Amino acid sequence: PELVNQIAAGEVIERPASVVKELVENSLDAGAARVEIDIEEGGARLIRVRDDGSGIAADELALAVASHATSKIASFADLERVATLGFRGEALPSIASVSRFALTSRPRAQDTAFRLEVDGGRAQAPRPAPHPPGSSVEVRDLFYNVPARRKFLRAERTEFGHIDELVKTLALARAQVEFRLGHNGRPVRLFKPARDEAAALARVAEVLGPDFPAQSLRVEQRAAGLALSGWVGLPTAARAQPDQQYFFVNGRMVRDRVVAHAVRQAYADVLFHGRHPAFVLFLELDPEAVDVNVHPAKHEVRFREARLVHDFLFRTLHEAIAGTRA
Ligand code: ADP
Ligand code: MG
Repeated sequence: PELVNQIAAGEVIERPASVVKELVENSLDAGAARVEIDIEEGGARLIRVRDDGSGIAADELALAVASHATSKIASFADLERVATLGFRGEALPSIASVSRFALTSRPRAQDTAFRLEVDGGRAQAPRPAPHPPGSSVEVRDLFYNVPARRKFLRAERTEFGHIDELVKTLALARAQVEFRLGHNGRPVRLFKPARDEAAALARVAEVLGPDFPAQSLRVEQRAAGLALSGWVGLPTAARAQPDQQYFFVNGRMVRDRVVAHAVRQAYADVLFHGRHPAFVLFLELDPEAVDVNVHPAKHEVRFREARLVHDFLFRTLHEAIAGTRA
């Protein structure tokens, strides 16, 4: 099973940021209100994610790091309407197979926490450990036992940059959750929970820059079971790089051709060639109307009714943007 897990790790775990993504998504799936991420040496030395979520019962800790053990899906029918970020049950075993790994957890109803250590895939028996309600995962020396992958880690600053970008994306996706990110013992980001729309917009400004709110329009529209909300940048404030485009489908960051095409069309007659609008958009729809089971790590989805989604996005955005023309 070790080799199987290491192969799975090769698919899902490309670099430290992929580990952070899987761990923070687990925290969010566990209903955490606070997520604290501590990184050392760009994640090559340490990745630690702490949350105040539901925790894992002592007798289920070993299961959490076992292959294909997910607590989130019980049947094929569930797979058709995945509401959690994770559902494959392969992230923790994969990560644990290529690192020195520890999971410490305590459900609120349990008086002590337990800690399970896994070294290169070999799990020790869980032992009592101090920990408040919630979970901590520590991942040390990522890829220490897979030298070919360890060698491909980039400079500390590059790897941390990927982590920072990921945390910004997650912070946009979950405005009500507090996120802290630290690197080498220094606090780098603190996103306080945003309880209203003004605070949510302030968080957006933290990610897209202080000018974004003044250079954008609020969008809010629903039709045919689709709901779109967020902010789109004014054409006049478009950027040279397409790096400030955030699109979330049911709280999941997505890069999708249908979406990209609809946005491009909506801006087509107001944007100079080679310029890219900034936007933060949230699309909500019935989980059964979208397939998120396409690839474990990529930001791909498949809409059951792509045409409907495309036209809804295009119309909504085009209307908003057209209104800005004198
Ligand atoms: P998946 O998220 O696809 O279910 P993972 O390998 O990421 O699979 O996690 C395995 C299981 O461990 C989850 O289904 C969940 O039950 C449990 N788990 C992992 N991380 C946490 C966490 N931070 N809080 C509570 N439970 C967790
Ligand atoms: Mg998961």
